Amino acid sequence: MANPLKSTGESLRGMGVTLKNFFKKPITVQYPEEVRPLPARTRGRHVLHRYDNGLERCIACMLCSGTCPADAIYIEPAENDPANPNSPGERFAKVFQVDMLRCIFCGYCQAACPTGAITLENNTALATYTRTSMLYNKQDLLEPPGTATRGAALAWEPAPPPEVKPLIPEFKGVFDGWETTAAAVGRGNLPVDVNEPGHPKPLRKAASTVPPGESTPKALPGQTAVQDSKNIQPAYKEERA
Ligand code: SF4
Ligand code: SF4
Repeated sequence: MANPLKSTGESLRGMGVTLKNFFKKPITVQYPEEVRPLPARTRGRHVLHRYDNGLERCIACMLCSGTCPADAIYIEPAENDPANPNSPGERFAKVFQVDMLRCIFCGYCQAACPTGAITLENNTALATYTRTSMLYNKQDLLEPPGTATRGAALAWEPAPPPEVKPLIPEFKGVFDGWETTAAAVGRGNLPVDVNEPGHPKPLRKAASTVPPGESTPKALPGQTAVQDSKNIQPAYKEERA
């Protein structure tokens, strides 16, 4: 048989907990009028980023699409017009779609991207009424012209202290997406992206065609100069047979 004294004590203890919280101010957050700040590494809505010169970081390498376990990314690449390129690579993403209904927000696409083009930001307000509006197109994902951020990439890959020398082509064990990107896609004479807060100067400059003492880059054998309206330096394109 239950001990009546013990039962009464337990009941009183329970009522004490109720009384203790009864007069406390409620902590209910009135979402969506009030939004709690989320941690910088929260994986939410994707964003496609640009370089400071306005070029798209995405070079349509398809690594994010290939690594996505949910098959949520669809990309159609296209060749860049050398006179008016969209990205510093040979190709850019003509079509870039993320199916948010498939996405499991694992962040593999961000981790796989060699240029820091795609990040998952801490925006989780994705609810909608139709399935089709969960298919995000490039115009939904790409930063507007004039905006060039790194987004959550800086939270995941903070720049090392200045005394730590970055490895090339790796930066803290991660393909850095700064100077190596341009070199990897054959446009190593583009200005490198070293303007990140705390980012150390690169150990070596991106491959340059400027001989010492000359201000204008010269084409290497097998290259032709192309006028590049969006970039600071002239670019060179390999001539193909
Ligand atoms: S977060 Fe994961 S599931 Fe979503 S698109 Fe990226 S790789 Fe695919
Ligand atoms: S991995 Fe990065 S650069 Fe390659 S296609 Fe995806 S977003 Fe573009």
